[in-house]
Amino acid sequence: MIRFEGYYFDGRHPTSVPATVDFSDHEATLNAGPFSECCPTLHLKVSPRIGSSDRFLTFPNNGQFACADDGFLDSLPQESWSEGPVAWLERRWGVALACVVITLCSLLVGYFFGLPAAAERIAACIPIETEQYLGRKALAWFDGNGWFKPTTIDAQRQKAIADGFERLCSDLPLKRYYHLDFRSSAVLGPNAIALPGGIIIITDDMVRTAGLSGEVLAVLAHEVGHVELHHAMRSVLQNSVIGIAVAAVTSDAASLSVAVAGLPVLLAKTKYSRQFEAAADDYAFRLLKQKGYSPKNFAAVMEKFTANDRKLKGAFSYVSSHPVTAERIQRARDAAVGWAPDTQQPPIEGKWLGESYQPAAQMWMKHLLTRKPDGTFVVKFRGTVDGNTKEQLESGRWDYADGVIEELTMSIDGKPAPARDDLYDLYKVESLTADEMIYTHIKSGQTFIGNRVPDSYELP
Ligand SMILES: [Zn+2]
Repeated sequence: MIRFEGYYFDGRHPTSVPATVDFSDHEATLNAGPFSECCPTLHLKVSPRIGSSDRFLTFPNNGQFACADDGFLDSLPQESWSEGPVAWLERRWGVALACVVITLCSLLVGYFFGLPAAAERIAACIPIETEQYLGRKALAWFDGNGWFKPTTIDAQRQKAIADGFERLCSDLPLKRYYHLDFRSSAVLGPNAIALPGGIIIITDDMVRTAGLSGEVLAVLAHEVGHVELHHAMRSVLQNSVIGIAVAAVTSDAASLSVAVAGLPVLLAKTKYSRQFEAAADDYAFRLLKQKGYSPKNFAAVMEKFTANDRKLKGAFSYVSSHPVTAERIQRARDAAVGWAPDTQQPPIEGKWLGESYQPAAQMWMKHLLTRKPDGTFVVKFRGTVDGNTKEQLESGRWDYADGVIEELTMSIDGKPAPARDDLYDLYKVESLTADEMIYTHIKSGQTFIGNRVPDSYELP
C-alpha cells in the first residue's frame, strides 16, 4: 500500500481539509476527516506536472486531492497526454532561453524579410486605380495644406521638361498613368516626389538646382523607377502592418486610405531603404540610356546636392530622403561608361562661327561658340559700331537631345550669371551637316547659322 498525504477540496466549499489517499490493488481510498471515498484508480485524473508545484488528483465526484509530486502519480490516468514532454521542457532553463532566442529571431526575420516580401506581393496586387486614388488624395492634401503653391517656372521651360518626361515614359508599362506636375514649395525645397499611381511632382527649386533638362529628367527617371517598382505602396504597407492586414483582406481603396490616413506626410518624409534607392537608381540609368540621355546627368545633380546649403538640407529635403553618397555618384558614372547616344548626326561638339544681331548690345556681332564634350560651352561675342568694339564672353553648360540644344549661361565676362530663367535657352536644330548648323531660339524665334571652324580658330 502507498499512502499520500495532502489536502482535499470537495468542490463545494472554498477551503481544504487535511487528507490522505491510500493506493492498493488498483483502488484509491480517500480519507478527509469524516468524509471518505473509494474508487478504482482508473477513474482518477492526475493534473499535469508544473515545475515542482503540487499535483491534483480528481475523483469521480469532482473533489480534488492535492499532494506533492511523486513518480508514482505518472502511473495513474493523466489529464493531458502531452504532460510528459511539456514538463520535460519546463524543467530546462536552456530550452526556455533557446525558445526566447528563437522567438526573437523569428520576429526579426519576419520584420526584415517577411514583411517586405509580403508588402511587395500585396503592392503588386493593388490595382493601379487604387494607387491613383491615393496619389490624388495625397496631392490634394499637399495643395490644400499650403505645402505646394503654383509653379513659377517659365512655360517654355516646363514644356521642354514635360516633353522630355513624356519621351521617358513612352514605352513604360504604366505610361498611361504618368502625370508630371510642377509646384513651388518652400517646405520641400528642391525636391521630387513620386506619389502612388504615377503622379510625379517636381518643385521649382529642383528645376532650378538641376539646371538642364537632361539633369531634371535624371531626377524624374529615378522617381519613375520608384513608381514602376511600386516603392511608394510598398513602403506605406511596410510602415503600416495594419494596412497590410486591411489590404490583404479587402483590397479596397476606402479602407486602405483609412489605414494610411497619414499618407501624405508619410510620403513626404519617406526615406526609402538603401535597396529601394539603389533599385530606383539602376532603373533610372537604364531608362535614361534607352531614351538617349547619359546617366552622367544623375551624377551631375547629385553633386550639386553636396553643396553645403541649408535650403538643400532641411527636414523634408531631397537630400534627407536621398542621401548623396560618393557610391551613388560613382555608380551613375560607371553606368555612363561606354554609352553614346544612338545617332547618325554629325557631332555638335566643336567650334562654330556665326554672326547675329544682339538685342542687348543693339548691334550685329560675330560669335565664336565652342561646345565641349564635357557639357560646357564658351561663346565669344565681338562687334564694332562707329569704331567702338564691344566684346562679351559667356560660358555655361549645354546639352542636346532630340533636336533641341539647351544652354544654361553660368557666367558672363567671368562673373557668375544670376540664376534667372531668361539665361536658360532652348534652340531647335533646323539642319545639321558636317560644317553648318542652322538653329532657332525657341522663345524669340530668332534663327542663327553657325559654320564649323577648326579647333585652333580664334576671332580676328
Ligand atoms: Zn529615391
